[in-house]
Amino acid sequence: MEAKRRMLGSGALLEGHFLLSSGMHSGFYLQCALFLRYPENAAWAGSLIAGMIAPLSPGLVISPAIGGLIIGHEVARHLNVPFIFCEREKGTMRLRRFPNPGRLSYVIVEDVVTTGKSTLEVRDAIEMLSKGEFLGGACIVDRSSGIHGIRPRLFSLMKSEFPVYPEEVCPICEKGIPLVEPGSRRLFI
Ligand SMILES: [Zn+2]
Repeated sequence: MEAKRRMLGSGALLEGHFLLSSGMHSGFYLQCALFLRYPENAAWAGSLIAGMIAPLSPGLVISPAIGGLIIGHEVARHLNVPFIFCEREKGTMRLRRFPNPGRLSYVIVEDVVTTGKSTLEVRDAIEMLSKGEFLGGACIVDRSSGIHGIRPRLFSLMKSEFPVYPEEVCPICEKGIPLVEPGSRRLFI
């Protein structure tokens, strides 16, 4: 699959034996920013996501900062609509730098959806301000296993569910493959 090929090719998806920030072990590690550091990847993903969204005819694309900025902007470019973003202020997601979107219908675009929390927080922030319809969410990678709570829909380019293991029962430990902490050895690929 092209999305996985690009993830691997950009170094965003690593296969091996990783210690996650949760303390769990995994055979995979994903850092979407590494995929998006190549503008050509962002343009490619933005065009495909825009194609999924286009039949809904949104008037606006909104993203949560920071993760959604690059891909949201690319999607908006392909839809030929404006792009704005929400950001956290003292822990609360807010629309700070832009005018009230009024009655414009909108989609919320993120890089990775894990729990769906950021998208839902952006939706709540916009619903407090405007009467525009929330048409749905979209992301490059859906890691939620379907528990994201984003209604009426969430589009994604790829779904990925990586199994994680506590150290005591990790099958990769059993194989004797060295454990790596992602970020501890950065290669520029
Ligand atoms: Zn392990």
